[in-house]
Amino acid sequence: MPADMDLRAEGCRYRYANGTLAVRDFSGDFPAGEITALFGPNGSGKTTMLKNLAGIYTPAEGKVSLGGRELNRLPPKRRAALTAYVPQQSVPVFPFTVGETVLMGRTPSLGGVFGPNRQDVTKAREALESAGASELWDRCVTELSGGQRQLVLIARAIAQDTPVLLLDEPTASLDLHHQHDIWRLLGALAETGKTIVASVHDPNQVLWFCRRVVVMRYGTVEIQGDSRTIFNDNLLESLYGRGCLRTEAEGLPVILPLFS
Ligand code: ADP
Repeated sequence: MPADMDLRAEGCRYRYANGTLAVRDFSGDFPAGEITALFGPNGSGKTTMLKNLAGIYTPAEGKVSLGGRELNRLPPKRRAALTAYVPQQSVPVFPFTVGETVLMGRTPSLGGVFGPNRQDVTKAREALESAGASELWDRCVTELSGGQRQLVLIARAIAQDTPVLLLDEPTASLDLHHQHDIWRLLGALAETGKTIVASVHDPNQVLWFCRRVVVMRYGTVEIQGDSRTIFNDNLLESLYGRGCLRTEAEGLPVILPLFS
């Protein structure tokens, strides 16, 4: 992986057609070879910002660059070869098989003249296997559970084999077992030099699996840096009031909600 795959947003601003200013002023760094969490309360602008980072949305002001090249100035096919985006939840309309869906991730780099070749199929099968869902290959996507669909979308992005992977709450509908498998997979991909950005709801998942965190509030960045340093009592109190406690279990930091 080239060393110039650091993703950077500078002064980004994004407003929806209905006038909602979802991202006010966002500057953040997403280094290659690491998982960076995008963390913040509901409505703080995480999904909107992820789509700006993916080049799906274009910021009205500011810019997103990858290794110094501005993403939105690149032709769509070149961009698709650089960034893969995994949406939070999407309900499939067409009855494609899982295999066909994962193969769609190969579209930007199709080897065959008339469609996927044997190597594309191998890559797609490997991607589904790495997501722990190889048994779903022949199933119809409209007949899957939400968690299974999420694994398929992650596999499709892995099959795309881009240097940057952006995921919107990648483990939100997964059971504990698949959550850990997906984080382990993302960690292994980061070790190969990929730039991974994931919006995450659960502060413990940030602490355990994401070395860096960018904390968003009201469409802007509140603080960013090493997650274990940033998730201190002051930040937690400002985010959650006195409703939680940072402690340790088995040598790992743990954030516990306090029910009183
Ligand atoms: P988060 O991912 O942190 O929950 P979002 O980026 O989804 O936040 O939303 C940020 C703000 O933008 C919210 O106020 C939300 O209502 C608004 N928003 C999200 N999507 C749209 C849309 N398609 N059109 C208009 N407003 C939107």
